[in-house]
Amino acid sequence: MSELLDSPSSIAAFRTALLAWYGANKRSLAWRDSDDPYHVWISEIMLQQTRVDQMDNYFTRFIERFPALVDLAAAQEADVLKVWEGLGYYARARNMHKAAQLIVAEHGGRVPNNYEELIALPGIGEYTAAAVSSIAFDRDHAVLDGNVVRVLCRLLRIEEDPRRTATRTQLISASQRLLQPGRAGDFNQGMMELGARVCTPQKPHCHTCPVGALCRAKAELDDPTSLPLKAPKKKKPHYPVAAGLIWKGDQVLIAQRPRDGMLGGLWEFPGGKREEGESLQECLRREIREELDFEIEVGEVLCSVDHAYSHFSITLYALSARYKGGEPKAIGCADWRWVYPEELDDFAFPRSDRKVIEFVRQRGWQLALF
Ligand code: SF4
Repeated sequence: MSELLDSPSSIAAFRTALLAWYGANKRSLAWRDSDDPYHVWISEIMLQQTRVDQMDNYFTRFIERFPALVDLAAAQEADVLKVWEGLGYYARARNMHKAAQLIVAEHGGRVPNNYEELIALPGIGEYTAAAVSSIAFDRDHAVLDGNVVRVLCRLLRIEEDPRRTATRTQLISASQRLLQPGRAGDFNQGMMELGARVCTPQKPHCHTCPVGALCRAKAELDDPTSLPLKAPKKKKPHYPVAAGLIWKGDQVLIAQRPRDGMLGGLWEFPGGKREEGESLQECLRREIREELDFEIEVGEVLCSVDHAYSHFSITLYALSARYKGGEPKAIGCADWRWVYPEELDDFAFPRSDRKVIEFVRQRGWQLALF
């Protein structure tokens, strides 16, 4: 794969250069300045959802609300989802909550200090187990995230698809071989930081790279950004979605999404995907019948919001509507409530519904009444 991995002196030079660069360049970040394993765990889960430069606020807000692991374990799931609001992929928050309860029940409230016990917890995969065991406990486990994959593919000139199992095994073995024993926390963070700030996807700073002298892509390729090999782009499907601001007097209906699915446990204005040939109004009436089994009158579109998820995108059309008859039943949702507009902030909503709330709030709720 590369002479680097066969040469103990080159490996030593790589470790020294990386650790020196990281020591001199690491950013001061709220979670990095703490060695509390609980903080490390929370931050590593959050980092899978958002960029480092956007994470400070989320992390600080989370730790203020749940200062210790026991506070997270004792919380209601709805409170955890509310604090997680905006980060997306809510299954991570639910799993973190479950894992905290298991850690209290089975590990005396202390985050396990080894890879095997960590990976047995809900929501903790290979990456998180390696990151927490190395960063919080200096266990010799190399991490492999997107940044590290990019650095390794260029450094070692790996011209195979890194998503293939065989290539991934090769990458894990290479990163484990490069890892500085006893300094796994700094080494792993140094690799991730190098990928984020120097060996960037589009414009790597090869001329100032601390490990440039050992890099095959720099030495042998005209364009290091040709690595890692990219997956062919698939076109994501796009769906129009109708959502109702359904009024009964001064109260509006919100529904809770089924706990196990996408955005599980979050609240939303009920509705769903428009089917071929349907108007938005027909779609909303049908969805409300199917999911909640009652009748509505539907008015105009109040606003539309575009939102992209990992595998598809939507345009969410918010329509004003009015309760007509029948008692709502939670058929296709976990729960439902009539609430006053000022109560909406007590619930966790997906980002697209939150945008609808902000839009209508700015213009006055009277406008949305139907
Ligand atoms: S020399 Fe360039 S391609 Fe190689 S690791 Fe450094 S930034 Fe990445």
